[in-house]
Amino acid sequence: MTDQITILRAADTAARWHAAQRRKGATAEPYVNHLIEVAHLVAAAGGEPDAIVAAFLHDAIEDQKIPAAVIAADFSANVAAIVLEVTDDKSLPKETRKAEQVLTAAHKSRPAKLVKLADKIANVRSVTRDPPEGWSVERQRAYVTWSGEVVAGLQGVSPFLEAEFAIAVATFWEASGRPA
Ligand code: ZN
Repeated sequence: MTDQITILRAADTAARWHAAQRRKGATAEPYVNHLIEVAHLVAAAGGEPDAIVAAFLHDAIEDQKIPAAVIAADFSANVAAIVLEVTDDKSLPKETRKAEQVLTAAHKSRPAKLVKLADKIANVRSVTRDPPEGWSVERQRAYVTWSGEVVAGLQGVSPFLEAEFAIAVATFWEASGRPA
């Protein structure tokens, strides 16, 4: 029961921290939809409670500038460490950050790999269903291709999530008019 309470507290906290944030698609979904989707995928993959909590909080540092120390104090040092592992260094240029994700994926902890894999699944689904406004088809294709390069470094952590990613990518290419 303690774990369930902590997980629901993470959902509540994430909803508040991201209350003003929307997804970049035309429908401008509340950002918390994305966080719930990622947390659900991590839970369905058998992720431990700290991984599920970190899934809810995975964009808090990057998007809402929540200090890692606040996450450590409100949850635990382990949860904060997982969130830091999946947080890009925003002082780096975007292309460098994208290259870093590909290079570092294989070296992350198991919970961080689960969160990252679930995040890529959710993002590829979003690009297919409701792409960010202003993204050309070429940009969407480049994003999905890059996601596959990151996910290549996350193999072995969850066959279930790997299969879900493959389905999401195949669905994208079907919709995007090119065979997978
Ligand atoms: Zn995310």
